[in-house]
Amino acid sequence: KRFSKFDSARLIDADKAHYMHGYHVFDDHREQGSLTIVDGEGAHIQDAEGQRYLDAVGGMWCTNIGLGREEMVEAIADQTRRLAYSNSFCDMANDRAIELSEKLAELAPGDLNRVFLTTGGSTAVDTAIRLVHFYQNCRGKPEKKQVITRINAYHGSTYLTMSLGGKQADRPPEFDFLSDGIHHLSCPYPYREAQGRSEAEFLEALVAEFEARIAEVGAERIGAFLAEPIMGSGGVIIPPEGYHRRMWEVCRRHDILYISDEVVTSFGRLGHFFASEDEFGVIPDIITTAKGLTSGYQPLGACIFSERLWEVIAEPGTGRCFSHGFTYSGHPVACAAALKNIEIIEREALLPRAREVGRYFEERLATLAELPIVGEVRAKCFMACVEFVADKATRELFPEELNIGEWVHLRAERRGLLVRPIVHLNVMSPAVTLTHQEVDFIVDVLRDSILETV
Ligand code: PLP
Repeated sequence: KRFSKFDSARLIDADKAHYMHGYHVFDDHREQGSLTIVDGEGAHIQDAEGQRYLDAVGGMWCTNIGLGREEMVEAIADQTRRLAYSNSFCDMANDRAIELSEKLAELAPGDLNRVFLTTGGSTAVDTAIRLVHFYQNCRGKPEKKQVITRINAYHGSTYLTMSLGGKQADRPPEFDFLSDGIHHLSCPYPYREAQGRSEAEFLEALVAEFEARIAEVGAERIGAFLAEPIMGSGGVIIPPEGYHRRMWEVCRRHDILYISDEVVTSFGRLGHFFASEDEFGVIPDIITTAKGLTSGYQPLGACIFSERLWEVIAEPGTGRCFSHGFTYSGHPVACAAALKNIEIIEREALLPRAREVGRYFEERLATLAELPIVGEVRAKCFMACVEFVADKATRELFPEELNIGEWVHLRAERRGLLVRPIVHLNVMSPAVTLTHQEVDFIVDVLRDSILETV
């Protein structure tokens, strides 16, 4: 029935003729077009030809409460009718942006009570870095602005945020990324980087590297450390136990701000509103979030920061202002969507539910580790990844041009499952409302698809 609503041939032609997608190889786009999605409900989406998929990617790590919720539609429509837009510059605000800021302050850990609303994750991280610069200037430390991040990190796609990122594949030579004042530490990736050391020894080495880098650059020149609690697009890298707490303690000792990039890990993805404190025992100075904040129903991000920072930048009598902001900062419709999204997460007790089903997802996925080409399965609640290897003993990878992740992904797609291929990985971040049966479907299809690829 749905099939007839869409003219898939016309869509494919128009897509090829006009629509440039990020990260799509031009030759593939020219020859094959793209998978055109036209409908979605819960964890499922449907393409223009009527094929239905369980979307284990969750859109782009973002459709946390699932698609097609009537309540969200109503909240967005009501707000659009009442006030579709109002600006948040200078002395103007709107009721929804104020309510959302208050709610985020309530949900965020520690004294993170101050909220700057943005248009997505990249602009939230960009805002966080500008805030660091502003703060350091305000407290008379203009030299203290350099930022330490990690290899394999992903923090967004603006020039600054991509420069902060550390994924080699995202840094092609055509672009001159910023390098001044940005330092990358090793990736806390036990499977590939521990190299025979125990997890505890590996952790000590990572902390020692951080200390050494601080000594080399000078603590008086380092403003912030920026880290995702679990690296997402870098390959669902789950750091050694205690890693974030130890890095945070180093930051405290050296007066370095700790920025937790929770663009992926918040709003239920790891079973909490924010994972920094609840999962990793860290109260950051700044948290950036987006994606699950509205579950993808509207574009929105937030940079949430501590009262301690606020007191410095907004010191009474200084006449200062933060000269920063986006036309769509505090967009009332996006904020209304976020408020309704949070209300649903609370009312339906989705966090404890996500922790329970998330554990089941982890256990079921772990069974794939026995398959011949599976090197490691990494999963924490609803962030998961299967890493493929040519040789399980040596952990040698398949040649990159073989694109092993793509092969498994295509075979899963034919069976009605979407996972995200990243070279030798299949990455997953489904809706956190997933049922046990949907978990079984994902794992069973992945198993069959991997076995077909072996
Ligand atoms: N930070 C992290 C950890 C992300 O995973 C992403 C996007 O995937 C971003 C920032 C950028 O967010 P956006 O794409 O909304 O700009």
